Amino acid sequence: MLIVMNYSATAAEIDDVVKAVRNMGFRAEPIPGGERTAIGVLGNEGYVDDAVIRDLPGVQEVIHVSKPYKLVSRAFHPKSSVIDVCGIKIGKGCRPIVAAGPCAVEGEDQIVRTALAVKAAGADLLRGGAFKPRTGPHTFQGLREEGLRLLALARKESGLPIVTEVMSPDHVERVSECADLLQVGARNMQNFDLLRELGRSSKPVLLKRGMSATIEEFLSAAEYILTGGNPNMILCERGIRTFETAMRNTLDLSVVPLIEELSHLPIMVDPSHATGKRSLVPPMVRAALVAGAHGILVEVHPEPEKALSDGPQSLTFQGFEALMGDVRRLRSFLGFE
Ligand code: PEP
Ligand code: MN
Repeated sequence: MLIVMNYSATAAEIDDVVKAVRNMGFRAEPIPGGERTAIGVLGNEGYVDDAVIRDLPGVQEVIHVSKPYKLVSRAFHPKSSVIDVCGIKIGKGCRPIVAAGPCAVEGEDQIVRTALAVKAAGADLLRGGAFKPRTGPHTFQGLREEGLRLLALARKESGLPIVTEVMSPDHVERVSECADLLQVGARNMQNFDLLRELGRSSKPVLLKRGMSATIEEFLSAAEYILTGGNPNMILCERGIRTFETAMRNTLDLSVVPLIEELSHLPIMVDPSHATGKRSLVPPMVRAALVAGAHGILVEVHPEPEKALSDGPQSLTFQGFEALMGDVRRLRSFLGFE
């Protein structure tokens, strides 16, 4: 439920409404706006009878929000959120950012060389998995602790902030020591204990859409993190499972403007996992930027044919450099630089 106050409502009237909501056993969250204040009601399951609220002085309107997510919704938070990752601003009105790097950290030479190459080409963040959520147990599972150490080294050598995946609630603290942005992978989008733990953190989180998740499920997963007290959330579309098998997944780009309507959170796009095919990555990066994505996530490897995971979708250094030329031209076309 959202209570919209009159533009002339006084602080005392707002306070009385907050108290009335609390007396009903719910949480009240005042949302100051440009012209008027709204009060979000949290903690209710289902419809709330608004009889005691509706007639209080200063109340203009009571809107029943039927969606299962509230704190992530634009109705509760009309102003777009901009998330700060080590001084890099991600969100509406900011220059779209580029996170690039290998699927997995494989060794010192591989990750440091990639960090320096993507930095030289203009990337803002270095990606690389230390803990890898692989579909089968007989494939490379990541260097884990050693991978984190190498990411810290690559960060030092290149100066690029790190985005890396955290798979378990027990690892949030340790991964946070070297990550600047904590990634929740598609397979863990509904790992609720992990989401709760991330809600207790203040590190920015990049939440990837589950491969079979609806938008409502995606935003509800983000709601766990915001409800836990961590407002530093970025969403990421990475393709969904459809009947089509020619691509690894189907990139659902309509999500970008839809999220913008439904939520104040920034949304990035990962065309590497969405397509699974190197040649399709640059055109989908361009499309994502034009659709309004606030950033892109792409896989880059020094020798994709030798990569321990996701080689076919990884760009070479040369391919990434060419892509960054497109990104620069599009940023300028879109009015960002
Ligand atoms: C990744 O980005 O490393 C990854 C595993 O992607 P996803 O969770 O989207 O499959
Ligand atoms: Mn990958």
